[in-house]
Amino acid sequence: MAKIIDGKKISQEIKDELKVKVAELNSKGVEVSLAVILVGNDPASTVYVGNKKKACEYIGVKSLSYELPETTTEAELLELIDKLNKDASVNGILVQLPLPKSIDEDKVIQAIAPEKDVDGFHPVSVGSLLIGQKGFLPCTPAGIIQLLKRSDIDINGKECVVIGRSNIVGKPMAVLLLRENGTVTICHSRTQDLKSVCKRADILVVAIGKPKFIDASYVKEGATVIDVGIHRNADNKLCGDVDYESVEPIAGAITPVPGGVGPMTIAMLMNNCVNSVL
Ligand code: NAD
Repeated sequence: MAKIIDGKKISQEIKDELKVKVAELNSKGVEVSLAVILVGNDPASTVYVGNKKKACEYIGVKSLSYELPETTTEAELLELIDKLNKDASVNGILVQLPLPKSIDEDKVIQAIAPEKDVDGFHPVSVGSLLIGQKGFLPCTPAGIIQLLKRSDIDINGKECVVIGRSNIVGKPMAVLLLRENGTVTICHSRTQDLKSVCKRADILVVAIGKPKFIDASYVKEGATVIDVGIHRNADNKLCGDVDYESVEPIAGAITPVPGGVGPMTIAMLMNNCVNSVL
């Protein structure tokens, strides 16, 4: 029986710690504010933005909401970002991705001032992460490090295998595990013999984007398994990239879906917002 890593509980702890910090800042007359930009009405993005606003409200971060129509042009969006970059009362800027196809996402990410880049996607943030300098960390991988640390799972010297090499999860995850002195391997769609590489892992992070892809045959007995995937199955139930029922009996620790990695992403976004004023 694996230890269940409770992301809901750990994310709540983090939010409560941040709430105290924000109250302290407020008592000194300092406000924390986040501008959230949503373009179009993608249902999943609308839910994510709603959850981010709720978290702001809970912690005491002021959220400024910009809900723009699908027809918004790239120039209009860049103009808004420029205005928010120059507004000293705005600490963080978040543009909900994906953007409509007519807008160049890279251009938009690069337009956000690095000191307000609370998603940690700007090339300056990514570069700082790589060379170990201060900067905003991407929220999902930073949340996974917190899950491990707060569950007393040692990373130092451990075999860590990350499946997935996306810019928002896989690559930064590997760098953060390396920072914690893990011995890190990144697997991707061209990896040969994925199973035998995964079987080496003391810590296996799965961000493959395929429902229930990783079953017990990929997992070493006693390993920690972190499931980043989020999918809705045919019965409208959430599941991850890991086949939980198969893996849980042999893992040492495992994150459930829902209630594992998901809640940590928003908690770490809030952490970045608060850090943006410190
Ligand atoms: P992505 O599609 O950008 O990347 C998937 C990666 O998996 C790619 O790098 C690819 O090389 C690799 N891959 C695909 N097939 C493979 C195979 N057969 N063998 C080995 N590697 C393979 O996805 P992403 O944005 O990194 O997201 C991954 C998952 O995590 C998705 O399910 C996504 O919804 C979820 N996600 C969750 C959160 C959260 O907050 N919990 C945040 C971001 C993403």
